[in-house]
Amino acid sequence: MKNIEIQVLEMLSRLGAVVTNSHFVYTSGKHGAEYIDKTAITQHPNDFTQLCWWIASNALKDDPDIVLGAAVVGAMMSPIVAQEISMHARKKNKPLSLFADNDVSFRMENDRVVRVEQIMLKRGFDKLVAGKRVVIVEDIVNTGKTVLRLIDLVKENGGTVVSVHAICNRGPLTHDDFAKQDIRFSPLVTTPLTAYDAASCPLCAAGVPINIELGHGRQFVARMI
Ligand SMILES: [Zn+2]
Repeated sequence: MKNIEIQVLEMLSRLGAVVTNSHFVYTSGKHGAEYIDKTAITQHPNDFTQLCWWIASNALKDDPDIVLGAAVVGAMMSPIVAQEISMHARKKNKPLSLFADNDVSFRMENDRVVRVEQIMLKRGFDKLVAGKRVVIVEDIVNTGKTVLRLIDLVKENGGTVVSVHAICNRGPLTHDDFAKQDIRFSPLVTTPLTAYDAASCPLCAAGVPINIELGHGRQFVARMI
């Protein structure tokens, strides 16, 4: 294990960001016993900034024109990473810091109004990525849905994603999945997560109460009432 990986894991542990022995409902709808609480990280600016600096030192070699993160935490990371890269980058034009955020729209489907929520490049940011080298930053990669959406957005708008960085990779995506698209995947740490389908969750079977403070447990419990 690399030195930075050890330091990141120690930091997450010290901040109380790694919660174990509980029963969580993840964004994917799957269940599991572990959770990384990103808010335990962001509320400590010195530690949060250090994580961004580690990511910046890794992303520097990609010579990015743009650092892009998705709201909320990726958008908080982006300017810190971009600023740190600009401190060390040799080129004259320093990287821009952009963010993507949720866009809500409605469409008719079988005579019903359907709410559609998806991550978009708004505020004219979509016009800034054409022909640019883009580095994506994310806090925790679980299913990878967010970073894959960001990659698509950059490509749709004529940019090139050169690398994807994260504090922690928990999901099924591997370096090879990104390498197929000529993208370097570089999480600070990789800690695989054991997740179960709700219907076959051993924690549900054992009657372990759902955690309603973190993750999507509150919504899951509300649907069951
Ligand atoms: Zn369960």
